[in-house]
Amino acid sequence: MSEPAIDLHSDAHFMGQALRLARRAYAAGEVPVGAVLVRAGRIIARAWNQVELLKDATAHAEMLALTQAEASVGDWRLTDCTLYVTKEPCPMCAGAIVHTRLERVVFGAADPKSGAAGSLLNLLQFPPLNHRCLVTGGVQAVECGELLRRFFAERRARPRGPAAPDPAPAGDPSQDPEG
Ligand SMILES: [Zn+2]
Repeated sequence: MSEPAIDLHSDAHFMGQALRLARRAYAAGEVPVGAVLVRAGRIIARAWNQVELLKDATAHAEMLALTQAEASVGDWRLTDCTLYVTKEPCPMCAGAIVHTRLERVVFGAADPKSGAAGSLLNLLQFPPLNHRCLVTGGVQAVECGELLRRFFAERRARPRGPAAPDPAPAGDPSQDPEG
């Protein structure tokens, strides 16, 4: 009869929250990936990729969200939690997810090159390991993937990135752009 209410517990709702965080990463010049961790229908951790800011290759959104969630729960076990992340987790994050005994992982865009939730390999459901997660992929995959595509297209189009060498000859103060 009436209009269906917005389901605040739905996968699409929480992926929308993760997407907002991915956009913050994008605005900060980071690979745009966002993650939220949900327990009992409530978000207990929010993070976005901060590899460049922290100069830390392990500062993926999932890793930061897991650490926050462990602090919130007061335990390294996240057995009754669900992680929502805009991109399929890499092998590092998938390994950490298995270590925390996370119940369920929901991701947006698949990552054929390095995805460890079924694309390149499936560490989240690898029988020899002592824990396996429920996995749902492809939630708002178009929006999640489009943000990543735009980021990498813009980065390729840029003449030089922050890691490129300074063209000014060393030791020549007249070439100092700050001077
Ligand atoms: Zn990762």
